[in-house]
Amino acid sequence: MTCRVRFAPSPTGPLHMGGVRTALFNYLFTRKNKGSMILRIEDTDQKRYVPGAEEYIMEALAWCGIEIDEGVREGGEYGPYRQSERKDMYRQYADQLIESGWAYFAFDTAEELDASRQMAQDEGGKFSYDAATRKGLRNSLTLPELEVKALIEAGEPYVIRFKFPENEEIVMNDLIRGEVRVQTSTLDDKVLFKSDGMPTYHLANVVDDHLMKISHVIRGEEWLPSMPLHVMLYRAFGWTNTQPEFAHLPLILKPSGNGKLSKRDGDKLGFPVFPIDWKNPENDDTASGYRESGYLPQAFINMLALLGWNPGTEQEIFSMDELIELFSLERVGKSGSRFDPEKSKNLNHQYIQMQDNVALGEMLVGGNRDMGTWGRGDFGGSLDMEKVVKVLGLVKERMNFLTDFWDQAYFFFVAPEEYDAKMLKKGWKEGTADRLTKMLELIHGSDFSAGILENVIKGWMTDNEIGMGAVMNPLRMTLVGAPKGPGVFDIMEVLGEEETIKRIQRAISTLG
Ligand code: GLU
Repeated sequence: MTCRVRFAPSPTGPLHMGGVRTALFNYLFTRKNKGSMILRIEDTDQKRYVPGAEEYIMEALAWCGIEIDEGVREGGEYGPYRQSERKDMYRQYADQLIESGWAYFAFDTAEELDASRQMAQDEGGKFSYDAATRKGLRNSLTLPELEVKALIEAGEPYVIRFKFPENEEIVMNDLIRGEVRVQTSTLDDKVLFKSDGMPTYHLANVVDDHLMKISHVIRGEEWLPSMPLHVMLYRAFGWTNTQPEFAHLPLILKPSGNGKLSKRDGDKLGFPVFPIDWKNPENDDTASGYRESGYLPQAFINMLALLGWNPGTEQEIFSMDELIELFSLERVGKSGSRFDPEKSKNLNHQYIQMQDNVALGEMLVGGNRDMGTWGRGDFGGSLDMEKVVKVLGLVKERMNFLTDFWDQAYFFFVAPEEYDAKMLKKGWKEGTADRLTKMLELIHGSDFSAGILENVIKGWMTDNEIGMGAVMNPLRMTLVGAPKGPGVFDIMEVLGEEETIKRIQRAISTLG
């Protein structure tokens, strides 16, 4: 059997990082097995449709390097890949189940169902539309056939429900959890087809997985309770032979370990929960993403892969190709995995260090920069690439995020306009201006490489018995304005003679 997996998000808002992890595990699994990756947009619930969400999903997956073989944009043999465009296909399947006795029409109004719920609650229970209660409700199992026909012809609203067999044990297999057993008496007769003429998630999902020849359904644990219904639907349709295998991925937990990391946790806990920035085009709803927070997609993917999967070794850094080679569902755990923001920051730090400075420079200021405004200044395109690359060599080790660049390096591009008060008080004394003036004479016309500058300046200080602090601190102050940055001689080299001298002279003339 050829491996065919699908990622099947509903476009109800931005894709949560848990959703990206699901897409990633599908992708790793199918690439490893030389199979296909399908992206199916499950948009049958029109009330929850959010414009822009579908584009967001595609952009986020592309940023992550998760390639789609068949989908809305890519096309493919089994399209359309958007469920709203497959709408007319589903009804016949619901009818098929009615005919074979696996489903029935239910005419209960919202008020009637509310009353049943209230009654159950008053008795200390919880209402469920199931094998026990359906006998007393308004459906095609209890109403005479002629009346059912008449109601339908009269345009009475109805839904189509699945008819679970009474008192049967469903035995299923999950590739991560092993055998799962469920009693049908605990399940309710889920709606398959709604009164608005649309299928529900369950019907559309199973029909499409079948028609698209999906071999493995890999999805989040929140869908585990749907597995019995889905397995029974395959049985009811007579598709058991080609039923896909199921694998339900463990939850991603909050850093505290308490509860699932949810969409609502976004930004509240101090880190993004979405891959890229989100802005709802219809209202003010926004949320920040990993991309705009300065993550490299490789680091983001690496971090996600380790949420639930483990390589069984100490290795922590994995390229996408390595992940594909090493991934297996057997090494995906059953229990939830705690998200550790510190660890993901460290991973990103390591990925930045691993990048070649030219490539990193491209990401920061190159033409394809798609990361918006960074830190203090948007320097898109206007910075000299050669200089950026040099600066990166000096500040990269202090960067956890791409967005740290400006904070670590702005003084290479803009001269200080004021000086740190503490530095000024401690470092600018009588004689400082004279000393710096002498030093300027010394380095004027000198080769401006860090090594030579260091030799010349340090030699002069030793010869004249000038203490390190008496020159180095004020010098840093004139060049940077603050007690920060890499080595002073390195800074001088990058600034070059003209700019270095200008900055020192400015300090001398304003501070005296
Ligand atoms: N549309 C469902 C979702 O939003 C798909 C679940 C599944 O993979 O079966 O997650």
